[in-house]
Order: sequence, then structure tokens, then C-alpha cells
Amino acid sequence: MLREGLIAEQVTEQRAMLAASELFDREQIEDQAWQLIQDREGRPFVEVPRQEYVDNGRTALMEALTEAGHLSRVEITGNPEEVHQQIMDRLLSGWSALLPEHEQKRRFLEICEELTIKKQQDGILAGWLPEDTELGLISDCPPEELVGNSIGYRFLNRKGMARSSAIRVNHDGTITRIIEQVSRSNSSAISTFSFLADNGIVVERNEQPDLVALGTPFLYRRNDLVDGIVDVQRQLDHWSGVGVIYGDKKTDKPQHVAYERLREESARREDETECYINDLADLEQELAKRKDQGLTQAEALQIYKDEVVRILDAVCMLQPDYAEVTFGKTAAPIFYLAAEMVARGEFAAADSLVQQHSNLKQTITFCGMSISLDQAKELGLPVNSLGELVTKGKEKMKFKTGVCIVKSCDTRPGKTEVGPCSVCKKCQFRFDHNDDPTKDFILFDKPEPQESEEPAKVISLQEKRAQKEAASELVEQGSTIAVAA
Ligand SMILES: [Zn+2]
Repeated sequence: MLREGLIAEQVTEQRAMLAASELFDREQIEDQAWQLIQDREGRPFVEVPRQEYVDNGRTALMEALTEAGHLSRVEITGNPEEVHQQIMDRLLSGWSALLPEHEQKRRFLEICEELTIKKQQDGILAGWLPEDTELGLISDCPPEELVGNSIGYRFLNRKGMARSSAIRVNHDGTITRIIEQVSRSNSSAISTFSFLADNGIVVERNEQPDLVALGTPFLYRRNDLVDGIVDVQRQLDHWSGVGVIYGDKKTDKPQHVAYERLREESARREDETECYINDLADLEQELAKRKDQGLTQAEALQIYKDEVVRILDAVCMLQPDYAEVTFGKTAAPIFYLAAEMVARGEFAAADSLVQQHSNLKQTITFCGMSISLDQAKELGLPVNSLGELVTKGKEKMKFKTGVCIVKSCDTRPGKTEVGPCSVCKKCQFRFDHNDDPTKDFILFDKPEPQESEEPAKVISLQEKRAQKEAASELVEQGSTIAVAA
């Protein structure tokens, strides 16, 4: 197929990939992209489908909650022309002459990417490209000084993406566009260009490296790259150094899952935030309506971002292992404390603790509120308080394998089944019965990952007595005891 038909002349048996420009006229694509940008004001109005709001919500949350080693998957089904129009419309809405020049160039290249995918789609539908042809692209982190704090980039770990687009032809004449995107740390020109060169893809380095990479989409067959974009990521890691996975040193990030489990684990992770995604979609849809009624773009964006931050707060209280990636090392201990409070049922106290320390949050730097939560509620917008979000998430949460956050818990340092707030069933039972396990004596061998960051606890006489009792019980059981401060 790919080898026999069209590609037979371009591809030798040793090549599994080729530059899209070897098949499709790049100059023509770029001309078309400029034309679309120039004509964008006059384009017909296309109603944004619900699915797109849902995808946006999922992306906003997962981008903040993960820094590398996550695979996001979006599927769009419809008639071939509509699917292309829907994606193109979103890209054209995102293009603005007010953006920093470098960011304008990146968005221009993304429009070119979509035009290239359209050609891939047409080729598959016309039968001259095999159905398992995928288009790959590497999107590396841009230089921070050239794009400023444009939303969507994570400079701390130089987060980048490798993404693929596949086309499934359905029996009813519709197609399904499948877009998969893997995130990696330390996205760099060295690994990207080595990867491309190794696959026989020649690039002209006449621009900033991230722009060169974005301007070089490539094609491969799933038959050759059985794991698709995960195989691309595997190769990028290979060119990043020994013992690297998703751009990180394996030893630094033991939580990264093996390539083989990436799709499954990422789907599980997304499932954990599923209960908030429809809410976010509702809010964005409502805000879009209000924009016709006088709400400015900036106000709408701010209201949306504020809700995203409240959801991230709620997720990090219920699953504090997300806190470090989401809000940075300094803020993480606050969320472990807040999680204990939520486990005790003290929602308001947890809320105010997090609010008081919001200055410690590093990675999410959204500027000040344009409108308060109460005002937004008065306007009838579907926004939620942190307490409402925590309650909702807690109800929906499933148990998973993790480390119980209660430091005295006898399951530590091992893993066990943990539920909301990363608390095991046994400890949650005690919380629910007003028997606070965080007041127990702590054994020597329990790890204290947040130790230095946590404010010292003041222990009342009564608690000390309770601890003594607990200690003597443990001595009877033959355990080693250390006195906790
Ligand atoms: Zn426990």
C-alpha cells in the first residue's frame, strides 16, 4: 500500500517516514494559510459543537495537572468537510495580529498543519493513501522571551508535545479524526532534529528551532509504527539521552508509566477529572452566549480561568499527589494539609487555608479577578465554589492505588487503596468517627516528604495523652517507636 502505491518512489524499504512536503506542495499550503488568515473576518459563522467545549475543558484541566508523560486523545466524527472546517474555524479564531510575532508564526504553522491533514484526509478518501497513514508533528516549547506569558506554555519543564492525526473512514460516509498528543519535558531542538534526521527528514534551519519543527509535519504508516505517536515519543527520548522517558530522567520521575501503559494510564487519569469537565463545557458555552450580549472576551476568559483554578484546587485537595506539578513545590504541602482537613470534613477551613496561601502557587499565574464568584453567580453563570467542587469530586471519586497521606498510617511507606484526599479506607473510617489519625505517634520509618515545609503542629495535653496510649499499644505489638514532636 503506502510502499507500493504512492510512496514506492519516495520511500525505500529502510524508511518508515517521510516529510509531508515530499507529497504535498508546501508552498501552496502556506499561500492558502495566508489567504485564510486574511479572509477570516468574512468567514461564515459556524456553531461550535458541544464536543469541542468538552474537549477544551478536558485539555485545560489535564494540561495543568500533568507536566509530561500524558497522552491526550480527541476524536471528532462528522462528514469529512465539516470535521476540517470545525478545526480550521477554531484555529482561525485563535489567530490575532495582536499576538507576539513568534506566537503568530506558531499559529500560522498550525493552520498549515491542518491544511496538510486535510490533504492526508483527501488522499485516504480518494484511495491513493493507505488508511493507516498518520501525520505526525513535533511541537517544542518556544523561547520564553519570544512569546512572553502566552497561555498554554509551561516553561518550568520546557513542556513540548508530539502529536498525530489519524483518519478512520466509517461505513456511513463519515470520518473520525483521531488526534493523539504526548507531552514531554525538556523538549529540545537537539532531540527533535536528531529524530527527524534519523528518519531521513531533511530540515532547513532558517528559523527558530521550534518553528522549524512545527513546519515539518511527517507521514508514517501505523503498520510500521505500531504504537503510533508513542513510538515517536520513544524515539525522541532515545535522542534525548540514556535513561530518559518523556523527556525526564527515569530516576527523577519514578511515577512515569512505561510506554506500553501510557494510553491506559492517561485515560484513567482523565477519568478522575471527568465529573468537572461537563461543568466547564457548560460554563464555556454559556460564556460564548453572553459574549453576544455584551460580556467582553477578556471578562469571559477570566471567569473561565477562575473556575479552572477552583477546580484545580479541588482536584489537588482530593488528590494531593497532583499538587506539586500543578502549583509547584512550595504550594504542595498546603494541599496535603488541606486534604487532611477535607478528610476530616472541614471544607471551609481547607478552602481558607488554600486561599490564604495562594501566593505560593507557582505554575498557574492567572492575573487578578475581573469578577467575583458571587457576582458571577448573580449573573446566573454556572460557576461553583471550591466547597461545591470538592463535595462533587468526593462523591464521584473511585479508590485507586496510592500512598495514604496520614503519616502514622501503618500502610506507609507502601502503597494501598486510597480514596478521596489520598486517605486509605482505615484512616478515613477513623476521620469519619472523630478519631483523628493525624494525631497519632509517627514511626521512624515513615517517609515525611513534606516535613520541612509543614508548619509545626501544636499538640494539646489531651492529644499527648492519647498519643501515649496509642504508643503503649504499639509497644505491646512489638513495634519500634519514635516520639513525634
Ligand atoms: Zn491510612
